[in-house]
Parts: sequence; structure tokens; C-alpha cells
Amino acid sequence: MYTLGIDIGSSSSKAVLLKDGKERVSQAVIQVGTGTSGPARVIEETFGGLDITIEDMDYIVATGYGRFSVEEADKQISEISCHAKGIYYLYPTAHTIIDIGGQDAKAIRLDGKGNIGQFVMNDKCAAGTGRFLDVMSRVLEIPLSELGDVHFKATQWAFVSSTCTVFAESEVISLLSQGVSKENIVAGVHQSVASKACSLVYRVGVTDDIVMCGGVAQNKGAVDAIEKELSKKIIVAEDPQLTGALGAALFAYELCNRSKRS
Ligand code: ADP
Repeated sequence: MYTLGIDIGSSSSKAVLLKDGKERVSQAVIQVGTGTSGPARVIEETFGGLDITIEDMDYIVATGYGRFSVEEADKQISEISCHAKGIYYLYPTAHTIIDIGGQDAKAIRLDGKGNIGQFVMNDKCAAGTGRFLDVMSRVLEIPLSELGDVHFKATQWAFVSSTCTVFAESEVISLLSQGVSKENIVAGVHQSVASKACSLVYRVGVTDDIVMCGGVAQNKGAVDAIEKELSKKIIVAEDPQLTGALGAALFAYELCNRSKRS
């Protein structure tokens, strides 16, 4: 049985194709999200080189901010449920999930059996999200994928506000003009994201086995700042941008089995 999970976010489009709910046949990430060519391209890339097409899927679940735009989907499920599903499958001992995506950040508390006990979300403001880092990467003229390495060269973390992206952008420009090193500013930017993310984590409770997913989990500097803020090691999920799509593909497998039985 083939099932497909598609996660259409604000910043990226992701897909995972599973065989029999276990074997990962294919997966893809396109770094543009809803309202762009991303959804079509992620499907094209997922099936590129395979001798099956989307028509051969037994069940398709779409998730993410743009999930209702996926016409091929049999069902839509929220990204909170899908991230929880994907993370619990990969890390059954996970108790808390931190998911930082392009335009929101979430903390999810699991009950130890994969069920969602509680979740809190910041989606009103770009501060503390991937968008904040995208803006800072542009102002600092450092590619997003290099922010992590630059972070570890900091000698003293600069202070960067976490309340507002526009305000923080002016602060960063001001720090640059004062001659503060880019390394120290980058670390301050990560600290700003961490304090926002951790304010969500404190609300659901700091537990053992905290797993981080979402695109920002690929930024080692942001992960380091969160670990320092929580005084705890966190687990970065394998392919962190894909855990929502994985969860969607797992839901698709369960739903397809259920519909065949009934
Ligand atoms: P969404 O699901 O909301 O579209 P994602 O979970 O894909 O968002 O996360 C998007 C964010 O991930 C971007 O805003 C960016 O900050 C971050 N990101 C993406 N790729 C990388 C990378 N290679 N290194 C560091 N950060 C990244």
C-alpha cells in the first residue's frame, strides 16, 4: 500500500511517500510554500524517477498552512497532529516537541503514548520564527545555511530584542554600525529566537526528551541557544523539515487501513 503525506507550509513544501506505512520510498523538500509553484514541484520531485505516480496512491493526507489547496488529498489534518505523529514514530520517548517553521512556532506536549496533551503556538508575530531569521540573514548578508557556523564563533552574545521583527531589524542595523561583530550579532539573533520559543516550552512544561523539528531545527545556532536557555540537551529530529509530511503519510496509512476494514 502506498500513502503520501504532503505538508504545504508558508515557506516550504514537503512530501513523504511511504510503502506499507514503514518504508520511505521517496521524499522531497521545495523551499517555497503555499501559493507558489512549491506544491506542484514537490509532487513532481517526489515521483521523479519512480515507476509509480500520484494516481497510484492508496491514500493522501495534506497538512500545513496550505493543506486545503492540495486537490489530490483524501483528507486534511492539522500540522500539530502531523508533527506529533511523525515525531512519536521516530522518537517514542519524546515528551515535548518544539516546531519552528516559517511563520509560526509551536510547543507540543505529548502524553507518552503519542497523544497531544497540550500545545501552544505563536503565529501572530514573525519574531521567534523562521521569518525572523530570514530577515536577519538578509540584513547581515549571511546565507541562512551559514548562520549556525557563524554563531559558534561569537565571543559575546549581543542583545537583540525578541518582541518585534521590524524593531529587531533596526537594532541589528544599529549594532552593525557600532562595529559589533557579525558573529556576536548572529548569536544574539539566535538568543532572541530561543527566548521566544522557550516561553512557549515553559507553558507546556520542560520535560525529558525534548525533540525539535521544523526548518529552523536545521540551524545549529538556534538549537544551541535553545539548549542554553533551557539548560538541557535537545534532540534534533532526523530530516526536521519533513516530520509533518511523515506524520501525514502515517495518518494516511492508518486511515486507508481503517476504510478498507469498514
Ligand atoms: P513552514 O512549514 O512554515 O513552511 P519550515 O518548517 O519549512 O516552515 O521552516 C522554514 C524555515 O526554516 C525558514 O524560514 C528558515 O528560517 C529555516 N530554514 C530552511 N532551510 C534552512 C537551512 N538550510 N538552514 C537553516 N535554516 C533553514
